[in-house]
Amino acid sequence: MLLTLTTTHRPATDLGYLLHKNPARPQAFDLSFGQARVFYPEASDDRCTAALLLEVDPVGLVRNRRGPSGEGFALEQYVNDRPYVASSFLSVAIAQVFGSALSGGSKERPELAKTPIPLVARLAAVPCRGGEALLRALFEPLGYRVSATRHPLDETFPEWGEGPYFTVELSHTLTLHDLLTHLYVLVPVLDDDKHYWVGDEEVEKLLRHGQGWLAAHPQREQIVHRYLKRRTHLAREALARLLEEDQQDADDAVEQRDDEEERVEQKISLNEQRLGAVMAVLRGSGAKRVLDLGCSTGNLLRRLLDEKQFERIVGMDVSHRSLEIAADKIHLDRLPPKQRERIELVHGSLTYRDKRLAGYDAAAVVEVIEHLDEPRLAAFERVLFEFARPKTAVVTTPNVEYNVRFPTLPAGKFRHKDHRFEWTREQFRSWAEAVAGRFGYAVRFLPVGPEDAEVGPPTQMAVFTA
Ligand code: SAH
Repeated sequence: MLLTLTTTHRPATDLGYLLHKNPARPQAFDLSFGQARVFYPEASDDRCTAALLLEVDPVGLVRNRRGPSGEGFALEQYVNDRPYVASSFLSVAIAQVFGSALSGGSKERPELAKTPIPLVARLAAVPCRGGEALLRALFEPLGYRVSATRHPLDETFPEWGEGPYFTVELSHTLTLHDLLTHLYVLVPVLDDDKHYWVGDEEVEKLLRHGQGWLAAHPQREQIVHRYLKRRTHLAREALARLLEEDQQDADDAVEQRDDEEERVEQKISLNEQRLGAVMAVLRGSGAKRVLDLGCSTGNLLRRLLDEKQFERIVGMDVSHRSLEIAADKIHLDRLPPKQRERIELVHGSLTYRDKRLAGYDAAAVVEVIEHLDEPRLAAFERVLFEFARPKTAVVTTPNVEYNVRFPTLPAGKFRHKDHRFEWTREQFRSWAEAVAGRFGYAVRFLPVGPEDAEVGPPTQMAVFTA
């Protein structure tokens, strides 16, 4: 497997500084699955090419249990394409051999590392499961000119036809960092056969290296699914985090929200009253298994845990940071085993169908819908009422009419900057009734907090029952 990187940006030999590898000195690196060599077939002021040659040791792979499991056919463990093709081994090698370039740093040429320069990456051979169309669909949206030559399966037997292997040339003017992150993520996607176990940390790697380009990539779904080897729950998590561009907002908002929204709503300790009202409905529904969707830092979860009626409690949020704080507040790691078994925190988005949410008696969705973009609201409706389908669902949201009664809130402003909308009583009612009708629920409405004769209560609640 050979990757070459060429630049014509003068002085082209600066490529050596960017890669942190001296053009005059060939180097070899021992990796867990074989050996990597770096050398420069050409190095002049006008044009410089660095080569990364990977020699994967198939016997070592078996010994280290990193290769194919051999489920395909008896000798697959030993006889496979892994030593010769650009696969996730290449990504590992890029990370280990060109680590600082991959992360965008260069001690000697920090400015150049941030400068788009003409670069050509050539890969031989790339197994491209999905053909040339996929190859183009992956790289062209990122601005690359792509040229691909397909190799026959066996040159001596042309009648066997074409194999899945290509020699690929990618040209673009971009930073070396960007080029390497694209290769890091997309080569395994083309290969679609990851050599190692895909675990949670792969989601982190994917999101880290995909930063700034993956979220907007038209093939995002396919990239995520293939990269994570079709481990659906990981892919779902990654997509949720990518799509929730407000995820960072959500995380940042955690710390602020308690301040901001509480400051506005403080006088009546609305939060207390809201959670009290939700608890009353959940208690009254007879629910034993309950969901708290958008549980944030766990205020409702703590109350649920305190009551024996609730035998199984699941809190879900899209913000990882919130869940960490929730786990802390609940002292999750110090709960006695019986208590510990009752509760689970899951990271996920309410805009994706999620099997983990099925089979519950009740769901609380407290002050969450106003955080969803309107187009995602429709997805949420199906996730909750069609797929999760709890017998009871309690949904609360601000009553925007009441905002005029908050002395510290400027006219026309929402209670929190992350709110996408705040509804009047009429808007909430018509939304809830339409949803109930569509999914076969009955719905009733309850005021939360001191009801004002003119503008109604500060919080509005809908209780849906199947
Ligand atoms: N229910 C809590 C928190 C309300 S704040 C309470 O009443 O105190 C809204 C919460 O919804 C935040 O924690 C935010 O991270 C979460 N959230 C926003 N969009 C989400 C989504 N798509 N899926 C799951 N949670 C989401």
